[in-house]
Amino acid sequence: MKFSPNKPSIYGETLESLTEAALAAGYKAFRSKQVMEWLYKKRVDRWDAMTNLPKDFRAWLDANYIFYPTRPLIDKRSDDVTQKFLMELEDKSLIETVLIRAPQTGVGQEKSRKTVCVSIQVGCAYGCKFCASGLAGFRRNLMAAEVVSQLMHICRMEDAHTERAKDEIASFDNIVFMGMGEPLANYDTLVRTIQILNADWGLNFGARRITVSTSGLAPQIEKLAEEGVAVRLAISLHGATNEVRDQIMPVNKRYPLEQLLPAAKAFQQKHGRMLTLEFILIEEVNDSLEQARELVKIAKELHAHVNCIPYNKVEGLPWKRPSLRRQDAFVDVLKKAGISVTIRREKGHDINAACGQLRLKTEKAMAEAESRPGNPFLKSES
Ligand code: SF4
Repeated sequence: MKFSPNKPSIYGETLESLTEAALAAGYKAFRSKQVMEWLYKKRVDRWDAMTNLPKDFRAWLDANYIFYPTRPLIDKRSDDVTQKFLMELEDKSLIETVLIRAPQTGVGQEKSRKTVCVSIQVGCAYGCKFCASGLAGFRRNLMAAEVVSQLMHICRMEDAHTERAKDEIASFDNIVFMGMGEPLANYDTLVRTIQILNADWGLNFGARRITVSTSGLAPQIEKLAEEGVAVRLAISLHGATNEVRDQIMPVNKRYPLEQLLPAAKAFQQKHGRMLTLEFILIEEVNDSLEQARELVKIAKELHAHVNCIPYNKVEGLPWKRPSLRRQDAFVDVLKKAGISVTIRREKGHDINAACGQLRLKTEKAMAEAESRPGNPFLKSES
């Protein structure tokens, strides 16, 4: 697969923008709808395979667009349910996309519920203290095509061994903006991507199955509430008081709880859906019973589900995962107060599934290998 620096990717186009470009080039408006059908419903990624398009229109597409602006470089599957893809971008930056298969028992058969976790920035400026993505700092925002393309790679891979239901276009059940980057800091890309995923000419993917996870950018939460797309919102809370949250989430200094919680409440009221509060349990940092009691108050106020995640060790950070006894005691306080709570004992440790770790390790290894002959990373280029 070759990149072409001078051409945009077709996956960044909306029906409207492609129609406009096609009309300006002298082609009929309905041609752009046909292209979208080939891309999303028939999953074709060769112009010459779009057989109901006139040759000159295919030539115009070929002259003006590429397909994928991302290239899968490394594909790592863990023993359990997590498969992680390291994707290379045109400028050689690396991002991560993760496919999580949660086994589900259906009627008489076992079925997997598939969630794709996408990246929306290269690196991240927000520096949440538990996260490897922030360690190397922020490099750049992704474009919508680079986000949609991550999902289309997964669709094509899954198509090869999964039969899609008749009315299903995507090959997975949920999309979460929870990979590398803060989605609300790349707001325009986020909204354009959701538009492409959600549209009936696109992936026709229901907004209720899309979750945007934010570190807590209060003004953008309010803006998203007004956007008219009823996506789910997850907030990386990780501290139930400013004092504790400040230690884990530098963004809390800018948008403290007095600002964040009303914005979250406004979002919840606008869409009437339960929010999710993510809470990474870190020993003797935020896992006290007092924090649990404060968390109960917030969850009640926001009508939120709480997702507790025992801390996953990040190289270079001193924190520890609490013992099972401490984890259970924390969760019990929430349960007894009637809060909907789950504890997600992280999957995929063996493939560096924690956000950003695979990328960091690979970048380091690539830098070390660059000067060596027989560099395995360069072999995958074609
Ligand atoms: S958790 Fe998200 S917002 Fe925080 S540093 Fe990591 S990628 Fe950025």
